[in-house]
Amino acid sequence: MKPIKAKSVPARRSRAQVVVTNAAGHKAAVAPLPEPSAPRLHPTRILVPVDFSPASSKAVAYADAFAVTFGAAVTLLHVVEPLVLPAEFGYVPVPSPEDELKQLNAIKARLQRVAKDLDSAKRSDVVVRIGRPWQEIAQAVADLGVDLLVITTHGRTGIKHVLMGSVAEKIVRHAACPVLVVRPEEKDFVG
Ligand code: ADP
Repeated sequence: MKPIKAKSVPARRSRAQVVVTNAAGHKAAVAPLPEPSAPRLHPTRILVPVDFSPASSKAVAYADAFAVTFGAAVTLLHVVEPLVLPAEFGYVPVPSPEDELKQLNAIKARLQRVAKDLDSAKRSDVVVRIGRPWQEIAQAVADLGVDLLVITTHGRTGIKHVLMGSVAEKIVRHAACPVLVVRPEEKDFVG
């Protein structure tokens, strides 16, 4: 049997068709192209917890790419852990409310610098919360109506012998939305 060629030609009205011809160029079959189906993925808000480690930058890159593809908004979140010291430490200077505010503003500004370089910058925002990282991240998912959380397996400590850092592991178990977990060293599909 002679090989057949297929080419796509514009239809006379609105719909494109596939025309199959044989080697001699004779029309063998004509079929309408299938209607493009509406995208079934429509995340509107993507949350990325950022601890400013190189690994968390990778999570930011994935979240940004998804946000561009789906027209979603990205929220960058950092959680400040309150300083709790055991009693045997005796007297330790407690930061004043002014100092705490300064620290929170400095972190917010740092997140904003990351956010302004995103391709999805126009739809991005930043949030700073105080508390236990995994709890605050899980709570932010609920408070902000997040549909997708992007996190890396390791962050600042990057302890190699554990499969996932403690924050990442608890998030996967507790977050009330799908979680995309990105390993710091692995095959990438974002540029
Ligand atoms: P490791 O133990 O290797 O540091 P973690 O589980 O702490 O790994 O970190 C994994 C992910 O959790 C990283 O993407 C990091 O950005 C995020 N994360 C960790 N701590 C915080 C924090 N305080 N605020 C925001 N994100 C955090």
